[in-house]
Amino acid sequence: GSKAYMFMIRLKLPGGKLTSAQYLAMDDICGKFANGTLRLTTRQSIQFHGILMGNLKNSIAEMNAAFVSTLGACGDVNRNVVCCPAPTGDATRVQMQELADKVAAHLAPRAGGGSYHEIWLNGEKQETLPEPEVAEPIYGNIYLPRKFKIGFALPDDNCIDILAQCLGFLAIRENGQPIGYNMYVGGGQGNSNAKPDTYPLIGQAACFLTPDEVVEAAEAVVRLYRDHGNRSDRKRARFKYVVHDWGIEKFREVFERDYWKKPLKPVREAQIANVDLHLGWHKQANGKFFLGISVENGRIKDEGNYRLRSGLRAIVSKFDCLVRISTQQDILLGEIDGANKSAIDSLLNEYGIPKPENLSMVQKWSMACPAIPTCGLAISESERSLPGLVDQLEPILTELGLADEQISVRMTGCPNGCARPFQSEIGLVGRAGPKYTMYIGGDSFGRRLNFELQDSVPIDQIPAKLGNIFKAFKAERQDGELFGDFCYRLGLNRLQELVGPVLK
Ligand code: SF4
Repeated sequence: GSKAYMFMIRLKLPGGKLTSAQYLAMDDICGKFANGTLRLTTRQSIQFHGILMGNLKNSIAEMNAAFVSTLGACGDVNRNVVCCPAPTGDATRVQMQELADKVAAHLAPRAGGGSYHEIWLNGEKQETLPEPEVAEPIYGNIYLPRKFKIGFALPDDNCIDILAQCLGFLAIRENGQPIGYNMYVGGGQGNSNAKPDTYPLIGQAACFLTPDEVVEAAEAVVRLYRDHGNRSDRKRARFKYVVHDWGIEKFREVFERDYWKKPLKPVREAQIANVDLHLGWHKQANGKFFLGISVENGRIKDEGNYRLRSGLRAIVSKFDCLVRISTQQDILLGEIDGANKSAIDSLLNEYGIPKPENLSMVQKWSMACPAIPTCGLAISESERSLPGLVDQLEPILTELGLADEQISVRMTGCPNGCARPFQSEIGLVGRAGPKYTMYIGGDSFGRRLNFELQDSVPIDQIPAKLGNIFKAFKAERQDGELFGDFCYRLGLNRLQELVGPVLK
């Protein structure tokens, strides 16, 4: 291959966890071999962009030397397992975070008898990586029909968007202790242009599991998918279509009879009712603190006075923080002594890193996928366009006195939907060049899909259209009504009147 080819490397980081040493090693690698930035992803991973062919092997060898793997971050296998990353230390999150690791390890691809190591590490084995006992005991010879996504959430903190996952585990507590999980199946965001039988779907509750049943259940669902997923049409191969086409009753029946082989326990009562971005300072159960820092579109970089990459490096190395990446592409630093909080606040100032309380709500709740120039599937800009759009929405919201409203804007460069735009209050999905399909009416806590408002809208018409809806929201909202609920209540016809036609 030519040296001019550039590659992307994505890490496998269940629950988005890194030690300080691992974080610093990743920071080194992005400086030495990639484009000098780290890109946090919506699945709590890190992507390195702009790696030249000749540096691929060195990059991966250094990642593995820091005990970080890329195995299973891509391909038709279980992808990065997401989990609420907050290092609060409460019993439920501790258990969920451990289970996320166990599920990830259990479902890591093992085929090839160590071929990953032969290719990337000159045959040297790394201690922490899963090693095969049998070739592919779960995936079989042909892997899964497509990728598979798993997530863990809490009813009062659905920060990972559990209903967008193929398989979700919702923690159930009694007296503050985790007693088990409601299992959700069949969520997924992507669709394909000009394929009307593809669409986003949200997960449905299937059964209740005790904590010790979770790993076994994850394997059983993956085996069901392996056997019943659509292998003839790749656009309809995702697990969500199995659940959708069968219906949840048939899913339960087949799962219970052929895969779980025990009576399923009924779903417990639990409402998903909040999302926490985990920004700012929070106390941990052990008396230490963690700090959530908003990272615009997940891009850790130095640019002018905004020196996020250097600042994070300085804080993480000086205070030996644990590092967690959230599914909102933000970063949490934990295990911080109370005595060091003000020194860290000063460092944030010094490096031009805004505190969350100084950022607008719409920026904190906005999210874009990488798209152009680093994603080969992109048909429109996303990461490079959203900040400019947010800048235009901020004064409109402030003017209307809506600056404190939680309004999520999620943009993607194609309908694959990596930033989960089909669940946000406002979704903007790349259609062709500077034109986007506008979606509206999702729920603040990820419980409902939004709906298409208008197709092929040039990006420069979007702020005015949204401004008209914000005005109506201001004038007509019911007491305490959230923006997404308001749009949902207004309905498509009224919203279309408000935004008017697409101008030629
Ligand atoms: Fe994902 Fe599409 Fe964005 Fe690429 S352009 S990151 S495939 S949503």
